[in-house]
Amino acid sequence: MKGYAMLKIGETGWIEKDRPKCGPRDAIVRPTALAPCTSDVHTVWEGALGDRHNMILGHEAVGIIDEVGSEVQDFKPGDEVLVPAITPDWDTEACQRGFPSQTGGACGGWKYSNFKDGVFGEFFHVNMADNNLAILPEGMSREAGVMIVDMLSTGFMGAENAAIELGATVAVLGIGAVGLSAIAGARLEGAGRIFAVGTRPISVEVAKKYGATDIVSYKNGDTAEQILEATGGAGVDAVIVAGGGPEILLDAFKMAKAGSKIANINYFGKGQGDKDTVPIPRIDWGFGMADKDLITGLCPGGKTRMERLADLVTYGRVDPTLMVTHTFKGFDKIEEALFLMKEKPRDLIKPVVLL
Ligand code: NDP
Ligand code: ZN
Repeated sequence: MKGYAMLKIGETGWIEKDRPKCGPRDAIVRPTALAPCTSDVHTVWEGALGDRHNMILGHEAVGIIDEVGSEVQDFKPGDEVLVPAITPDWDTEACQRGFPSQTGGACGGWKYSNFKDGVFGEFFHVNMADNNLAILPEGMSREAGVMIVDMLSTGFMGAENAAIELGATVAVLGIGAVGLSAIAGARLEGAGRIFAVGTRPISVEVAKKYGATDIVSYKNGDTAEQILEATGGAGVDAVIVAGGGPEILLDAFKMAKAGSKIANINYFGKGQGDKDTVPIPRIDWGFGMADKDLITGLCPGGKTRMERLADLVTYGRVDPTLMVTHTFKGFDKIEEALFLMKEKPRDLIKPVVLL
């Protein structure tokens, strides 16, 4: 079968591979909608995970089940499913501790396009199908579905981890699809005022629709100063970091009130050494004693998460298709969509490929 792969750091291309094999609890799925992720860009062009050879890319998919293993009970060939970006092994110790995305070590629940072939193939493999897949609800578009599996799940996790209380003031740093989903999540969590930080006009437009009350450009001077000024020096109750490089943490800690949460959902992809660090500002962190907590997380996966997010879409709480700015038709368009994600033209939030 054909797949679009990372050949080595900095290089991608089409390759031929064997169709994946289906274990007793697994499924083999044929994609019907795919989307590239900024994380694929970190993986290929920043070598963030280290080198990978001939690994099929992609971890955002909706698809039709082609084959199921003998022990799979809830799905059958022909079912159209949401495939979470993160597909944990649900019978592991990390799951029992409550951290399914971290099974098998840090970020180990992230299998596709990390340490197994991703979804940009004619077929792809799903481990523990009964626990990881969810039916694409009747009436839901494939575009909406494919925006749920990583973007909504990650952005909403940011809002959940930020422990937003009713009426709280929240800043979301970065308004690509991940940050925009965090804004929608912050509104659902009950935020009062929501600062959205970014510049792409198309993102600004969607940020307002999702509930942003104030737009801040990081190009107009120090982001934290702008937000401190707008809040009369008080700062914000919660920060969600969803873009920028490591130095964005300086802004986050500076604008965060003492006793606030900083939820990082950004992927700090640059640098390949195990001695790389990210900065936390000593004074703005209250010398390490100001109850300014940095919380991290990898996109939650699994069936229940997908079903709940799908309900938010089905029952009109959020419309993820507002983030789909480019739609392509045909498997061979994956390459163009991925390169768009790398180049980030000003009119782009997220491209989707329908098959
Ligand atoms: P985008 O590149 O589309 O968006 C990034 C946003 O950050 C843009 O709005 C950009 O502004 C803004 N930005 C850039 N520099 C700064 C700055 N200095 N201060 C404030 N904002 C800034 O990315 P995505 O939304 O697709 O993804 C965001 C991150 O989330 C990526 O690192 C991605 O890999 C990661 N990710 C993490 C996951 C997880 O599980 N934790 C899952 C999926 C993705 P502008 O409007 O000017 O472009
Ligand atoms: Zn992703």
